[in-house]
Amino acid sequence: MRARDCKIVATMGPASDPPERLAMLIQAGVDCFRLNFSHGSKDDHARRLSSIRAAEEQAGVAVAVFADLQGPKIRVGSFEGGEIKLKYNETVTLEASTEPGKQGLIRLPHAELVSALEEGDILKLDDGKLQITVIERGRTQLKARVDHGGVLKNQKGVNVPTRRIPISALTDKDREDLAFALDLGVDYIALSFVQHAEDVREARALIGDRAGIISKIEKPSALTEIEAIVEASDAVMVARGDLGVELPPEQVPIAQRKIIRAARAAGRPVIVATHMLESMVDAPTPTRAEASDVATAVYQGADAVMLSAESAVGRHPQSAVAIMDRIIRAVEDDEEYWSSLPRDMTPPQDTTADAIALSARHITDVLHCAALVAYTATGSTALRVARERPRCGVIGLTPLINTARRLALVWGVRARVTEDVTSVEEMVDKADAAVRALGVAEAGDRVAIIAGIPFGRAGKTNTIRVLRLE
Ligand code: PEP
Repeated sequence: MRARDCKIVATMGPASDPPERLAMLIQAGVDCFRLNFSHGSKDDHARRLSSIRAAEEQAGVAVAVFADLQGPKIRVGSFEGGEIKLKYNETVTLEASTEPGKQGLIRLPHAELVSALEEGDILKLDDGKLQITVIERGRTQLKARVDHGGVLKNQKGVNVPTRRIPISALTDKDREDLAFALDLGVDYIALSFVQHAEDVREARALIGDRAGIISKIEKPSALTEIEAIVEASDAVMVARGDLGVELPPEQVPIAQRKIIRAARAAGRPVIVATHMLESMVDAPTPTRAEASDVATAVYQGADAVMLSAESAVGRHPQSAVAIMDRIIRAVEDDEEYWSSLPRDMTPPQDTTADAIALSARHITDVLHCAALVAYTATGSTALRVARERPRCGVIGLTPLINTARRLALVWGVRARVTEDVTSVEEMVDKADAAVRALGVAEAGDRVAIIAGIPFGRAGKTNTIRVLRLE
C-alpha cells in the first residue's frame, strides 16, 4: 500500500489504554501519541508511555510521543453552593481571591489577570458559553455586564480574547510536569497558550535539546507574531478548541490558513487539532462536514491531523483513526492535491543542504523516482527535504531512535534506524535494502539518495546519488 504522507496524532486516554487497543491504533495508522497533562496523574502518563514504547517495538515502526502541558489555563474560583446564575444584562462583581464567590460575585484566583483587565475587556466563561464585559475598574474589584447568561459552575475556564495576559506560558504545575515528561523521555513538549516567542525561548532554556517544542496557537495575541513564534519552535499546533473560544467562529478557518502558511514557509511541522471527527466520540461514522474538515487541513498542507476526545474517551477510537487514514489517502490520491500543494514557499538559503534538498525534489520528479532516501542524524536533512513535499515521500535513515521518533510527526517521512554507514557502497546498499524492505521500490525503479560525505558528521549534507535498483 502507498505510504500516507500526512500523519495522524491520537490523544491517549482511558479509551486507548488497553495494550491490545494501542497496538490496533498503531496498526490503523497512528504516527504520534499525545499525553494530555490537563488530565490524568503522573502514573497514568508513565504507564501510557511505557505501553506505547512496547507497542512501538512490536510494530517495528518509530512512533512519536508528546507531552501536552496544561499551561496557564485561567479558571473562575468555586462558589458557595457550587454554581451561580448569570442573568442577561445584570452587573456582577469580579475580585481576585481564592475564597468562594456567591450570587453576583465571581472570584478569580488570578491576581495578575484581574489587575490587567480594563473597561471593555471581554471574558468568555465555560468555553465561551457565557460572556461578560468589564464596565468599570475599581481599586480591588471590577464591575462587569452579563452579555450571555446561564449557569456558571465551579472552576469553569475563562478566556480573555481582548488582552494579552501578563503571565508566563509555564505555571508551577507545568514546570513540574515538564521535568517529569523529560525524564520519561517524550519526543516533544507541547506548550499551551503561547502568547509570544519569548514564551518558547523560556521553555527552550529549560528543555535544551532533550525534546522538540510544539507551540500551541490558541490565543489571538499569538497570531500577531506568528512568524517569530514559528521560528522559535520545532513545530506548531492549530489548537482550534481554545482558539475557537477566543475568536469568532468565522475567524478560525482564516487563522488556520495563516498558521499553516507560516509553518510551511519556515519548514516547521504543523498539526491541525480539535473537533476533527468530534461526532465519533459517540457515533461510528463521522459527519460529512467533519470528513471535509480533515480533508481541508490535508489540502492546505498540514503535516498532521489530530484526534482528541475521539481517541481518548470516545467509543470508536480505532474507527476514528481508520477513517482519518482513509480521508487523508483519498486527498493524496487526488491529482488536484499535488498540483495545488504549495511546495517551495521559502526561498532556499545559500547553504549546500538547502540546495541539495531542493534539487533532490526536482530530480525525483523528473526521474519519477520511487523513493528519496535521506541519511539524517539530527533529522534536519529529512525535515528540510520534506518541506519541498516530494511526491515520492522521504525515507529517513538515522542511527538515532530519538531522531526517527521525532520524524514520525513530519509530512512524508518514514524513518528507520540503521547503523551509520562508512562508505559509498554501504550507503547505496543500505538505501537499496531499506526501500525494498518498505515495499516502496523494486527492480528497475530509480531511487535518489542524499547524504553527507565524509560519513558520520551531522549537518554536512552535500551529495545526491541516483541509482536504479537491479
Ligand atoms: C485546543 O484547545 O484545541 C487544544 C488542543 O488544547 P486542549 O485540548 O489542551 O485544550
